[in-house]
Amino acid sequence: MEKIAIALHGGAGTIAPHLLTPALEKAYLAGLEAALDAGYQVLKQNGSATEAVAMAVVTLEDNPLFNAGKGAVFNHIGGHEMDAAIMQGIDLKAGAACGVPSIKNPVLLAKAIMEKSEHVMMASQGALEFAKQNGIAIEDDAYFYTEQRYQQWQDIKGSDSFQLDHTEQKGEKKFGTVGAVALDYHGNLAAATSTGGMTNKKYGRIGDSPVIGAGTYANNATCAISCTGHGELFLRSVVAYDISCLMAYKNMTLKAACDLVVYDKLVKIGGEGGLVALDHLGNIEMPFNSEGMYRAKISLDGVKEVKIYK
Ligand code: ASP
Repeated sequence: MEKIAIALHGGAGTIAPHLLTPALEKAYLAGLEAALDAGYQVLKQNGSATEAVAMAVVTLEDNPLFNAGKGAVFNHIGGHEMDAAIMQGIDLKAGAACGVPSIKNPVLLAKAIMEKSEHVMMASQGALEFAKQNGIAIEDDAYFYTEQRYQQWQDIKGSDSFQLDHTEQKGEKKFGTVGAVALDYHGNLAAATSTGGMTNKKYGRIGDSPVIGAGTYANNATCAISCTGHGELFLRSVVAYDISCLMAYKNMTLKAACDLVVYDKLVKIGGEGGLVALDHLGNIEMPFNSEGMYRAKISLDGVKEVKIYK
């Protein structure tokens, strides 16, 4: 029995089996597995949970299939504004970047903010400036262009509507956002989340992903959580911290806390989505109240699971 574990997601939402071609499904599963293996390798080599979640998320950010990094959705003016956060359970250190353009791997910017600044959260141009000063890779607009995302934006561009990467539009189903949680050999937990947010978003809209306690949270005393879903509802429910609090204050198990938040509290206010969660004992939960969630895990027993549907 290993003492390490990792779980990750590539977004939750309306993932209709009949719209996901076998080839596409294979590509999603391969993308999830590659990220899982990359993160697990870090843990195996005695790397920290922080390094492992960063590695898993970077791998997903580099994959154009997911709404983060290279595959980030288009905003109202045809640009990309990305959000990411990372947190480590050993000392509650956290870093987050929101509304940042041009960053190849927003999770690495969040990590640099955590490790190299006095701050927790930086936004847009200021965050970009910090990134440049700290050698974080920058890419031009062409890097973030993907035909699929461009078409998604064309479909609602000019309208006032915006949409989650996972919501159904014109019979197509879309999904996005990535995140990971890990437990290392030293018993430390970490969580990271990265997203392009909502297609056609404006006014500098920010979701739950980069907000510590909402979309991302880690505490060695309880658990590590990374969320995906309708950000506004996840923000209002302070989802990640709520699960940690239910464990800390009510002595709930990870499963009981996750079930209460995802299948009851969120559902009551219409919050669609899910999360990956890992506690200090190595228990993994991956609940979602949507049709599907791209997800993968390697548990304490070393068994690997990569799934999309229930
Ligand atoms: N939660 C993300 C947001 O609202 C979206 C997602 O998970 O796909 O920005």
